[in-house]
Amino acid sequence: MSRFKRDYLHLSPPDIGDTEAAGIIRALRSGWVAPLGPEVDAFEREIAAFTGRAHAVALASGTAALHLAYKHAGVTAGSEVVVPTLTFGATAFPVEYLGAHPIFTDVDPESWTIDLELLADLLERRATSGRMPAAIVAVDLFGVPCNYSQLLPLAAEYGIPVIADAAEALGADCEARPAGSFGESAVLSFNGNKIITTSGGGMYLTDDADAAAKVRYWATQSREPQPWYEHVETGYNYRLSNLLAAVGRAQLERLPSFVVRRREIRALYTVLLSTLPAVTVMADPNWGESNAWLTTIQIDPEVHPNGPTRVRLALEEANIESRPIWKPMHQQPLFQGAKHELTGVADRAFRDGLCLPSGTKMTDEDVERVVEVLIRALA
Ligand SMILES: *Cc1c(COP(=O)(O)O)cnc(C)c1O
Repeated sequence: MSRFKRDYLHLSPPDIGDTEAAGIIRALRSGWVAPLGPEVDAFEREIAAFTGRAHAVALASGTAALHLAYKHAGVTAGSEVVVPTLTFGATAFPVEYLGAHPIFTDVDPESWTIDLELLADLLERRATSGRMPAAIVAVDLFGVPCNYSQLLPLAAEYGIPVIADAAEALGADCEARPAGSFGESAVLSFNGNKIITTSGGGMYLTDDADAAAKVRYWATQSREPQPWYEHVETGYNYRLSNLLAAVGRAQLERLPSFVVRRREIRALYTVLLSTLPAVTVMADPNWGESNAWLTTIQIDPEVHPNGPTRVRLALEEANIESRPIWKPMHQQPLFQGAKHELTGVADRAFRDGLCLPSGTKMTDEDVERVVEVLIRALA
């Protein structure tokens, strides 16, 4: 039985067609079923070319890629990592895997990416008293790239590596450079609801050949070049399967059309919702163009108290999925007691925001139907 219900409009379901089916059959028939193989190599080359990176390492998930990226950046037990508080938990979990501690930092109201003034202030304070964080994680939230032309020089001033969590942002641009091209390393996700999917998978991106080799080595059980299994370091079983890489290659071919469609969907929501002054569709910041992975809205609580919940329940009633904005990490029971630097923006985004269905297979009529239900729910 399909997990995807008929006549139910999902938030961001996979868009899979004949090219993906042909890819997976090609991979199966080639005999390269054992984990690695030519599809993985080709997928890495194609993603590296697309993001303008020298090296790409295909991994089992975005979370695995973040884990090894943090590890390579020098995050160890007891160190601290700056993590934006408004993100998916997977950005923060690998900090815990390494025994390190997050410093949850608020986001800027325009883009919901890390607040650079707050970050500058934190780094300045730490430089005069206390320890510097081991790494800064920049999250391109909902596909909106961070302001890298300001973030990267700020981090460089203090010699702190930046890891870009671009899991949601493949296909986005920041000042005409692709998401995934920024930072000492960047991470992509090919989970089921991302803009392209391998059903599950991720990618580590870097321009540093040694870093790529090290991540590849860790991810392949830290196997030493010996005929027997020789181990000097702890290994991880984190590589992407050759079969899934074939799906990824077919999806990557279609990515440009996916980005066009997601942006069209967001533009249509923006036009249709412009009649409601208390509802705003998140737009692109002036430094970049998002891939419009998910269209997100904010509802003015003064005009529509409890608006996002009312809309979400009305949509559910109409067989339409929507989802609250990521619950900030500093509000999560898991991270009670973690350090944080807050302005209230993430809390307000969680309280007032909602993610609307944004899948590439949606028709314009689907978008109109979502907006009709939304308007009725707020009336
Ligand atoms: C999806 C996602 C991840 C994790 O990727 P997986 O492939 O699901 O492990 C990490 N960070 C962000 C911001 C994400 O949206």
